[in-house]
Amino acid sequence: MPEDLVKILGKILGDDRILSDEISLATFSFDASNVRQMPDAVVRPTSEEEVGEVLQAATEHEFFVTPRGAATSLVGGPIPVEGGVVLDLTGLDEVFELDEEEGTVEAGPGLRVKELEEKLGGDFFLPIGLAGGGSATIGGLAATDAASSLSVSYGTMRNFVVGLRAVTPAGRWIDLRGYQAGGPRFLMDSILGSEGTLAVITRVTIRLARRPQVVTHSLDLLDSLDALALLSELAERGARPAAMDVFHRDVLEVAEGEQEAGARALITFTGTSECIESNSKILREVLEEFKPLSHDVLDGQLPDRNEPIIRAIKQAKQAAIFVSAALPRSTLRDIIPEIDRTASRYRVSTLTVSSVPLGWVTVGFLFDPLDDKLLGRAVSASQSAAELFAGNGGVLGFGTGIGRTMAHAFAKHRPEAAAAFALLKKVFDPAWILNPGKIVPTRGG
Ligand SMILES: Cc1cc2nc3c(=O)[nH]c(=O)nc-3n(C[C@H](O)[C@H](O)[C@H](O)COP(=O)(O)OP(=O)(O)OC[C@H]3O[C@@H](n4cnc5c(N)ncnc54)[C@H](O)[C@@H]3O)c2cc1C
Repeated sequence: MPEDLVKILGKILGDDRILSDEISLATFSFDASNVRQMPDAVVRPTSEEEVGEVLQAATEHEFFVTPRGAATSLVGGPIPVEGGVVLDLTGLDEVFELDEEEGTVEAGPGLRVKELEEKLGGDFFLPIGLAGGGSATIGGLAATDAASSLSVSYGTMRNFVVGLRAVTPAGRWIDLRGYQAGGPRFLMDSILGSEGTLAVITRVTIRLARRPQVVTHSLDLLDSLDALALLSELAERGARPAAMDVFHRDVLEVAEGEQEAGARALITFTGTSECIESNSKILREVLEEFKPLSHDVLDGQLPDRNEPIIRAIKQAKQAAIFVSAALPRSTLRDIIPEIDRTASRYRVSTLTVSSVPLGWVTVGFLFDPLDDKLLGRAVSASQSAAELFAGNGGVLGFGTGIGRTMAHAFAKHRPEAAAAFALLKKVFDPAWILNPGKIVPTRGG
């Protein structure tokens, strides 16, 4: 780390956009995970060119740079785990083009989803928008290839990005704006989801979806495994949910106290009124066999995978370490009870939510930040869960990114993928200065 770091940065940005006092640095030392590390400095560029110049200086003078959006990451993505400079991109929030007919927007990466949707009025929405409660930035969503319950029918964030501009650590620009899917998609796809380790996204063009008609059925079931059987039965009879989230017993008990239900399933249908009605009819028929403890119909309501988890965390007055993966659906039946066993082995409470059609399971291990022993057990339990997921063929980091939290498990269980990542890293970032310690824990894998 060069001693005259602030001086080097001062040549690129005005002094008021470089933070180096302890209090400011502390506010950039955490995200929504348990990962903590103070940066040596924070820079707040207001133009794409400044971003390029900061990266070029970092390669030349060998200091680390960690890109940061709204820091809603659940896995330590924007935390400068090796120190160095945090690149705060929230100042790059300009809207360059807005097409209200088509629902496309070209904007800086710092634009937040809430602001984006407001600008487009009520007709369009970003089906991935609930990640981070709407306060996540479009750059952060693109960098993590964020997912939502609706990814069953809409795909992940990469399906909404139709163009981008990014800059590599050597200050080289990658301009893929104005292309539509079918163009050089593979170039865009190497940057989307790379969690700010290969290039910094400085502009994104997003095509939003038209808001659909929607009905969500909320069912309290005796057991989580009933939800798996329910989905198979629906599929057999030709019903296709646009989303199906299951909140497991741990979430319900922490959020609402002891109860009869072992799981709550939210099953969402979208489309025309006829399509929703025919799917809902099949569901009602299936429920005659499954006999849920309760059944509410939430007309017009999109599913929110996060709300019950946030409610549970508030209720517990604790924080949580999250581990997330997309697993082969056939493994869910064994994985869910194994998570319970992991929790009792480490004597920690969990919050488990799964999106059944995607095989996507997210588990939060609760801890009290003031209790070091409990934090240690929660960290061990989360590592154990990451290994469980990876060992069962899971795609680690689906719907969160791998970040820091799952980097060890990724490198250990996916050595070929980790080696492929190192190969790409060599091309984009030969000095390995961009967001080190993420996706893989060290330069050596
Ligand atoms: C309550 C809650 C619910 C959540 N639910 C979901 C969910 O359902 N699905 C989901 O996918 N995620 C979810 N998340 C995680 C988080 O919201 C997403 O990962 C989101 O995409 C992060 O956006 P951000 O702007 O906060 O980025 P940050 O957290 O600041 O950064 C995330 C990563 O992206 C990199 N990055 C940020 N901006 C750029 C850029 N312009 N160029 C290059 N790299 C960049 C960072 O270095 C970091 O690695 C949730 C988080 C919370 C707190």
